[in-house]
Amino acid sequence: MRVAKKETCYGIKVAKKFGEKLRKKLVEKNLLDFEHLILKNAEHIIFPLKHKLKKEEFEELAKIVSGIELERFEFETANKKPRSLKEALRKELSEEEIEKLITSFDVIGDIGIIEIPDELLAKKEIIGRALLEVNPHLKTVARVLSKHIGKFRLRPIEIIAGERKTLTVHKEHGCIFKVDVAKTYFSPRLSFERMRIAEQIKKDEFIGAWFAGVGPFPIIFAKHSQMKKAIAIELNPHAYKLLEENITLNKCEQKVQAILGDVKEVVPKLNVKFDRIVMPLPKGSELFLDEAMLAIKEKGIIHFYQFAPRDNPFEQTVANIKSIAEKHGKKVKIIGKRIVRSVAATKVQVVIDFEVE
Ligand code: SAM
Repeated sequence: MRVAKKETCYGIKVAKKFGEKLRKKLVEKNLLDFEHLILKNAEHIIFPLKHKLKKEEFEELAKIVSGIELERFEFETANKKPRSLKEALRKELSEEEIEKLITSFDVIGDIGIIEIPDELLAKKEIIGRALLEVNPHLKTVARVLSKHIGKFRLRPIEIIAGERKTLTVHKEHGCIFKVDVAKTYFSPRLSFERMRIAEQIKKDEFIGAWFAGVGPFPIIFAKHSQMKKAIAIELNPHAYKLLEENITLNKCEQKVQAILGDVKEVVPKLNVKFDRIVMPLPKGSELFLDEAMLAIKEKGIIHFYQFAPRDNPFEQTVANIKSIAEKHGKKVKIIGKRIVRSVAATKVQVVIDFEVE
């Protein structure tokens, strides 16, 4: 929080009735100082000035507005909230450092997650506090220590400002999700995808929500489609616990069933056929295409996520899907493909929607 302080600088005093006329003229001439607050009393207004007026500047104003006086006054500094991270850091970082800032960041509930370049690590707390100042709805700022890693796709983070917590509540498409940003995967960047698929779901569909995390795909389907039921399968026990809590929080116990376990083991044991399977595991989901081909109904639809090269994002993934389908004596019809998000300079995340015939 910035505390308002007082500073003495040049101001111009005028009778209240001429205040607006003078203010407009000062703005027009770029003389009004917005860093300080205008002073007022019963009869007068005093405008802070960017600099002491030159004789000719004063005379020009005096011709337009009568009775003005130029003096030094004590003004309160304007407690102006910076509008951007760069603006908040102008006084703390050099121009060179400001240029190195990565200003985009993820917001999960009231936690902001930002990447800080190595050259700025010594200033990480300052940057974290500035992000809190610019975004008052945030309570915590964490920095990313590496990309998502391991089977559970966790992103190592370090809290650099605000409350020392990793559990938060995120809202998306009218649903609420408890997320532990250190122990579970969650990406707000998939928000469009979740709704895009929800809108395609037909009445009474039976859905396989594989790699479910804390449940955003199946819970948003339950709220925004007329599906019959989704089976949400998740391997990470922390994510599974929150998935169960989120099902209850969103009152969709009748529509979403959570199962803790490995898709590879759970799906064959379930021995069911799905109308639609969603596979949001971009690193490694190709290893589960056999299970998907066996568990999908005739004319069922699969939404398959993968990381792919930016310069040729679909060819290899489509070829993999077709070759695994062939192995199972099936044909696929590609019904949609899109780049979901950028992941690195040469890498993107794609989704291929296909029907199994
Ligand atoms: N669908 C969630 C979302 O959009 O937030 C999570 C997606 S995350 C990229 C992939 C999830 O799959 C992780 O939560 C991970 O723990 C889980 N997972 C990885 N391998 C799995 C497996 N073999 N069986 C079930 N879940 C798995």
